[in-house]
Amino acid sequence: MVDVSTLYIVPTPIGNLGDITRRALSILQQVDIIAAEDTRYTGRLLSHFGIMTRTLALHDHNERQKANILVKKLMTGQNIALVSDAGTPLISDPGYHLVTRCRQVGIKVVPLPGPCALITALSASGLPSDRFSFEGFLPPRSKGRKDKFTEVAQDPRTLIFYESPHRIINTLDDMLEVLGSERMVVIARELTKTYETIHGVPLGELVEWVSEDRNRIRGEIVLLIAGYRAGEDYLPLEATNAVALLAKELPLKKAVIITAKLFNVKKNTLYKWGLENLQ
Ligand code: SAM
Repeated sequence: MVDVSTLYIVPTPIGNLGDITRRALSILQQVDIIAAEDTRYTGRLLSHFGIMTRTLALHDHNERQKANILVKKLMTGQNIALVSDAGTPLISDPGYHLVTRCRQVGIKVVPLPGPCALITALSASGLPSDRFSFEGFLPPRSKGRKDKFTEVAQDPRTLIFYESPHRIINTLDDMLEVLGSERMVVIARELTKTYETIHGVPLGELVEWVSEDRNRIRGEIVLLIAGYRAGEDYLPLEATNAVALLAKELPLKKAVIITAKLFNVKKNTLYKWGLENLQ
C-alpha cells in the first residue's frame, strides 16, 4: 500500500528493463500521478509493464513552476512518484526543486533504491570505491573542462563524470593535457545493455584505444578517473606551460630547475616531459 500525501523517488532502468524493482512497479502502479522528465519516454516504460497511471511532465525548464502544482496536489492527499528518463531522479536529472519544496512544507519523501549509472560503473571499475566524488557532466567547452580537471587534479578520491559520446574525444584530449598520460582512467559504456564495455588503462593508452575504433565510444558513457596519489608524477598545466616558455630562452635543464622550484614539482618528471614534448 502507498501512503497518502507522499512523494516517492523511483529509479528506473538505465538500459536493461529487467533492472526495475518489484517495489518500483508496485509504487508506479498505485500512485495517483507519475511526475516524469519526459512523459512519452516514460510512457513506453509504463506500457511495457502494463501500468496505466497518469503522467505529468516535470523537466528542467518547468520544474520550479510544476513543483508548486505538485506540492498542492500532495497537500490535498494525493501521492506522486517522481521518475526521470533513466536511473535515479535528481542524479544529473530533474527533481531537486520538487524534493526541496516537499521537505520545506513537511511532505513525506520516500526514496526507493535502484539503478544509477555512476554507482553501477564504480562497482565494476576496479578503482578505489571507499571514497569518490561524483562531478556530473563536464563543461561543454575545452577551457571549462581544463579548468575543471585542474581543480580536481590533486583530489585523492576516485572522480566520476557523465559524458556524452560526441564530446568524449575532445574531453580525453583535455584530460591528457592536464592530468598527463599515466593517470588510470576507466570508460564504462552502455552499462546493462548489449554492448556494455568497461575498459580501464592509463590515460595515454585509453586515447589510443579510442582512436583505433570509434565504435568504442558510442552510446552512453561514464568516465572514472583514479584519484591523485601523493608522490605521483603529476605536472600541473601551469608548470608545463612555464617550462615550455622558459625553454625558448634557456637550456632545458635551467628552465626545468626554475619551473620545478616555482611549482613545487619533481625536476626529473618535468625534465622527462620537456625531452618528450619540447626537444
Ligand atoms: N539519473 C541517471 C543516473 O542515475 O545515472 C543519469 C542521468 S544523466 C541525464 C544521463 C547520463 O548518465 C548519460 O549521459 C551517461 O553519462 C550516464 N548513463 C546513463 N545510462 C548509462 C548507461 N547505461 N551506461 C553508461 N552511462 C550511462
